[in-house]
Amino acid sequence: MSILIKSGRIIDPHQGLDFISDLWLQDGVVNGLSKHMDVPPQTRVIDAEGLVVCPGFIDIHCHLREPGDEDKETIATGTAAAARGGFTTVCAMPNTRPPIDSVDMVNLLLDKAQNEGMVRILPIACVTQGRDGKALTNMEELARAGAIAFSDDGSPVSDDGLMQQALNRAAALGSPISNHCEDLGISNGGVMNEGELATSLGLKGWPASAEETMVARDIALAEATGGPLHLAHVSTAGSVELVRRAKERGVSVTAEATPHHLTITEICTKAKTKQGYQRLYDTNAKVNPPLRTQQDVDAVVRGLADGVIDCIATDHAPHTRADKDSTFEEAAFGISGLETALGSLLSLVHGGHLDMTTLVERLTTGPARVLNRPDLCPATLQPGSRADVTIFDPNAEWVVDANSFVSKGKNTPLDGTTLRGRVVLTIVAGNVVYEDEAVKVG
Ligand SMILES: [Zn+2]
Repeated sequence: MSILIKSGRIIDPHQGLDFISDLWLQDGVVNGLSKHMDVPPQTRVIDAEGLVVCPGFIDIHCHLREPGDEDKETIATGTAAAARGGFTTVCAMPNTRPPIDSVDMVNLLLDKAQNEGMVRILPIACVTQGRDGKALTNMEELARAGAIAFSDDGSPVSDDGLMQQALNRAAALGSPISNHCEDLGISNGGVMNEGELATSLGLKGWPASAEETMVARDIALAEATGGPLHLAHVSTAGSVELVRRAKERGVSVTAEATPHHLTITEICTKAKTKQGYQRLYDTNAKVNPPLRTQQDVDAVVRGLADGVIDCIATDHAPHTRADKDSTFEEAAFGISGLETALGSLLSLVHGGHLDMTTLVERLTTGPARVLNRPDLCPATLQPGSRADVTIFDPNAEWVVDANSFVSKGKNTPLDGTTLRGRVVLTIVAGNVVYEDEAVKVG
């Protein structure tokens, strides 16, 4: 199996490369990175002129829903959506039914990933047993079984003492605790960003302070324990500032932002006119934490650009139509994000808010650094490394059609919008796992 990718713009942040070159993959690894390579005659040649060629994207936060919610998503459909989005490695959140809180469940997920996954899956295990926030899991055993990180995502680890113990044990393991920061006493059943818009729509607000209170607590605990704290889906200007100051003090904290918190605001909560009648709300824009204000979006983008936010993670949260076809209050939280991530994020590059190499860094080397496992996530095109490669056209325009998603989750507030930039080819360990039929690349 030999593939030669010709004349692409090679961006490899790990090696500090951004230049036009050929990339040769053979037998599952990167074999060479230069012009003028002598490749065997049966080599598939891909013309990548005008395209970006980079290490495969890594998503450290997605919900594959299996086991337990196969009507929302499965390992097969979720990883097919990942491949289409250019992701070659995804970390699966453990809020399945039952949750991933035992060695047996980690093994079950790894078996399914092996047999049904189109891209690599790295399991995240629960911080607490049953995700009920009362007693820690056996983190050491779970890490030995293959859990790459720990999270009760969907819910926060609310108990201060438990969070402190978890960070202590994570420090010994070197595996991060990814916390969903939400003080439930403050968010108190809120369904969208607190503010004027929520008031005018008559919806209950989920204020920035509910996130920032827990971010501040977690940073204090990380500072006390030295624990590797990772903050999931940072959404407010205040959180970015807290992380910035913590990093300046040398606290062991990393943070992620989602494509939706980087590109769209709470205004998406207000529905567009559909089929001639006006609905008040778009439940597809209901997400946790909620979409925020333009000022928050600008601050999160600045944080991403200057490295306060280490990486982008999709928080891909697929739901059935029934889960969203209800009142705003009753609708499920979450956006199906794997297939629109790159197109959304490129708007930051086209708009001059982020440069292309930084965007690629935050999708590859950035998440790899958070996971701290170069053996599992090399995220580079260095010769000899695993051939996980993404090729994308930064300029191709396309209209989002949720019905054409390969994910079972059609829940996106971007349905019908035009995005500029799309994934053309995704390669996992030297095998092409996704290829855009509309773009002929040889
Ligand atoms: Zn979450």
